[in-house]
Amino acid sequence: MSTVNLVDHPLVKHKMTFLRSKFTDVHMFREIMKELSMLLAYEATRNVPLEETYCETPLMKTKGYMISGQLIALVPILRAGLGMVEGLLSFMPMAKVGHIGLYRDHETLKPVEYYCKLPTKISSMEVFVLDPMLATGGSVASAIEMVKRTGAKRIRFLCVVSCPEGIACLQKAHPDVDIYTCVIDEKLNDQGYILPGLGDAGDRLYGTK
Ligand code: URA
Repeated sequence: MSTVNLVDHPLVKHKMTFLRSKFTDVHMFREIMKELSMLLAYEATRNVPLEETYCETPLMKTKGYMISGQLIALVPILRAGLGMVEGLLSFMPMAKVGHIGLYRDHETLKPVEYYCKLPTKISSMEVFVLDPMLATGGSVASAIEMVKRTGAKRIRFLCVVSCPEGIACLQKAHPDVDIYTCVIDEKLNDQGYILPGLGDAGDRLYGTK
């Protein structure tokens, strides 16, 4: 069974309060989402493989380590997942970025695919699937299925807010995919929104409501 890594550092808890608040404007929301994504990335990259290298200090040569640029793939689920990309890229500018387009049918609550463009060598990469909200888990499970079709094996899922229903769904569908989340909220409401949550992450990132 996959692990659920709750990244509940005091900095995360502090920033989550501002992210949730309905008084936080679009600009601040985007900025805090980026910062939380960086804090998640710090934990989620703990076990990525390193290549040995060397570097020269002003005094001598010494051993160094690098994360290979060929190794990391970020896969945001459109559109809210885009809000997490910049945070991860600021740590790993060499990462390749794929995109998966899925929307949730508001009546059936089921995910519908509309876009998929992934790095060509993704099957041998460490893949970080990104979506700030793990709600029903349906669209995330479908996105991970799309990534797995390429042959990719080392996949992690990063979200900002999750809930027990979404975690259970994802663990059942993909027991090999570890989850990183800033918070595990109480439950889903009957429209599929997380409570207390933060509302619609896409609308809040892009000011569409
Ligand atoms: N997607 C969102 O943006 N918010 C939720 O609460 C659930 C899904």
